[in-house]
Amino acid sequence: MPLLVQKFGGTSVADSDKILAAARRAIQAHNRGDRVLMVVSARGHTTDELIALAKEITETPPAREMDMLLSTGEQVSVALMAMAIESLGVPAISFTGAQIGLVTDSFHTKARIRNISTERMVQALNDGKIVIVAGFQGVDEHYNITTLGRGGSDTTAVALAAVLGADGCEIYTDVDGVYTTDPRIVPEARKIDRISYDEMLELASLGAGVMHSRSIEFAKKYGVPIHVRSSFSDAPGTWIVGEGDAKRLGVAVSGAALARDEARITIQGVPDRPGVVHGIFRTIGAAKIVVDMIVQNVSTGGVAEVSFTVAKGDLPETLRAAEAAARECGATGVTHESDVAKVSVVGLGMRTHTGVATAMFEALAAAGINIQMITTSEIKISVLVDRASAVPALRAVHEAFQLDRQALDQGAFVPSRPGSVMNLVPLAEAEGTPGTEARALGMEDLVIGGVELDESQARISVFGVPDRPGYAAKVFRSIADAGVFVDMIVQNIGLAGDSVLSFTVPRESAERAARAAEAAGARDVAVEPTLAKLSVIGVGMRTHTGVATRMFAALAERGINVNLINTSEVRINVGTDVARGREGLECLRQAFAL
Ligand code: ADP
Ligand code: ASP
Ligand code: MG
Repeated sequence: MPLLVQKFGGTSVADSDKILAAARRAIQAHNRGDRVLMVVSARGHTTDELIALAKEITETPPAREMDMLLSTGEQVSVALMAMAIESLGVPAISFTGAQIGLVTDSFHTKARIRNISTERMVQALNDGKIVIVAGFQGVDEHYNITTLGRGGSDTTAVALAAVLGADGCEIYTDVDGVYTTDPRIVPEARKIDRISYDEMLELASLGAGVMHSRSIEFAKKYGVPIHVRSSFSDAPGTWIVGEGDAKRLGVAVSGAALARDEARITIQGVPDRPGVVHGIFRTIGAAKIVVDMIVQNVSTGGVAEVSFTVAKGDLPETLRAAEAAARECGATGVTHESDVAKVSVVGLGMRTHTGVATAMFEALAAAGINIQMITTSEIKISVLVDRASAVPALRAVHEAFQLDRQALDQGAFVPSRPGSVMNLVPLAEAEGTPGTEARALGMEDLVIGGVELDESQARISVFGVPDRPGYAAKVFRSIADAGVFVDMIVQNIGLAGDSVLSFTVPRESAERAARAAEAAGARDVAVEPTLAKLSVIGVGMRTHTGVATRMFAALAERGINVNLINTSEVRINVGTDVARGREGLECLRQAFAL
């Protein structure tokens, strides 16, 4: 019998009518002959209210007790849902995370799933019951209650779909799918029919709150097709599927996202020698802080600026770690900026369409918005702007890529099972008998797909970039007009308030690109003709704070200097001297046991 996982978010179970409506939906599937497992979130704003309540008692509640408190929200929902289903005449049973043996690590309030025992769920499903599991929660090995982080019920749902080898995973929410951007901020946003795992991973981690990004890591690793849809209508929603199913020809940008509450930290005067970057991110990584937009600019006079962004809420903790790291490596100081926001565009099509960065910078320039920092990856471009400009920037970019005018393909769609991209199989299947404990590897452990070396690029740096709108737009327009394809772009502020803008291009176009930059008014342009780009490829690289650290450590051990850094959810790229490229590749293979 097919197995269907249905997840209902907070707004979808906010009151008794909505709980009954969700119950009817599950019963409908049950009556069709599916075995149905529901994952349910806390009702309405319960989690926010519980957090506020804790804050009334103390500003610094112990994380363990926060989890004890927050897990109650979901426990209320599952009990009510089971009652609702029973009242409609279908047998049902509710479980907490602990009761299904959902075991996590011990990082309270941001725990990761280690393993899940399927036995009890499978038994109940085979008995013909609708099984209702509390989202967002688990227990560590000492039976302390843990939670997975805000929005974590999505991750519970997809993890259960993976572990049970479910035929489908439906995410019911208050929008009828994934939109080109948050429709609450940009009402012109359009629903996307299909989107690939990689695009959704990037969008979710860049601020699209509709899905918890870790749930997409599971989906990609285990090949689970996800259908995001409205709990208030029967309209088809958005399929999050493998690349083969999601590809849309002619579309460069699939969506845009905004992370409003970011903070930027800059470590100034970092000595440009091997191992320094590693020391910095080891210290910060040890504090389990998710670091984003790591940007290191080209050194001048033997020192460089290393900047990165974190969620604003993590700023105090990050500053403590950054100051310790700065002291350790002999950097001259740490500065920060807490009123910034990150605007990003994401699309598989960027791999083949040129000029996406140029179009984005031009849209921002036309709106008079200053770009403070830039990072790119193969499928995303992110810029940091002043928080007050965040929404206008998102609108400008959304409009520039005509995301409000996407053609919708409303045809019926059946996803092909993408299969597990990481050579993993659903646990139940792997073990032969459903119900036994999972293997030693934690389900959410990092999976590395490979390492790569690209020796074909050169790096161009433009110094003295003025801190005003329009500069990057002009430079990249001129380079695009010269017919040069730009790969990585990083821009970071320098000491004197001006910026350094670096980017990579195919080596044979380096001189042409440099001349084009000068023609656009860049006065201080340097070409570094030999660059090796080393990449580590995987899933969920950004949220696994340890990957960048391990990469920097391996390179530092060999005395290989890193002179450019670029991170995304699916890969981390670093630039090094071309003479050390092969050695770097080898040491990364060893470091990641490939
Ligand atoms: P749930 O409680 O069902 O998990 P969430 O509030 O977590 O619901 O997620 C749904 C919300 O995500 C929407 O109401 C919408 O405002 C927001 N959102 C942000 N980005 C997007 C996007 N790209 N597409 C759709 N919704 C988005
Ligand atoms: N109730 C939790 C939260 O509000 C988990 C979830 O809704 O996904 O963050
Ligand atoms: Mg959610």
